[in-house]
Amino acid sequence: MEKSLIILKPDCMQRKLVGKVISRLENAGLNPIACKIMQLDDDILVEHYAHLTHLPFFPEVVEFMISTPVMVMIFEGENAVERMRNILGPTDSQKAPAGTIRGDFGLDKTHNIAHASDSKDSAEEEIARFFK
Ligand code: ADP
Repeated sequence: MEKSLIILKPDCMQRKLVGKVISRLENAGLNPIACKIMQLDDDILVEHYAHLTHLPFFPEVVEFMISTPVMVMIFEGENAVERMRNILGPTDSQKAPAGTIRGDFGLDKTHNIAHASDSKDSAEEEIARFFK
């Protein structure tokens, strides 16, 4: 059994897609084991997106991610990290295949519905960061 973290981003919250995203994960056999709604801030985003802080679009990412509260969840299941990333689809919603969450609901690279941990190590780090 593996755990992975997902953040339902402001576009997911505002467009009332929370139920649909959770259903897709549940239907794939992943089980929610923790959930909270949080207002993110600059400090946690600089930590969470440390690999992006030097990039020109980072201020846009922060502005978007703090624009409304987000829902942060942990799902558990076999191979949860890889399966959650596959269900979510690639970063750019325009290139994400139909049938993936980003392909079906996302608008572009910024407004792409959710973040999911990209490795077992980052899942552990992110779970510790968001569920202290
Ligand atoms: P992912 O969320 O798929 O793991 P990254 O870790 O590369 O992707 O990027 C984190 C987030 O930063 C993305 O989900 C997206 O919201 C934003 N982002 C990434 N690349 C771009 C870009 N070129 N332009 C605007 N936003 C971007």
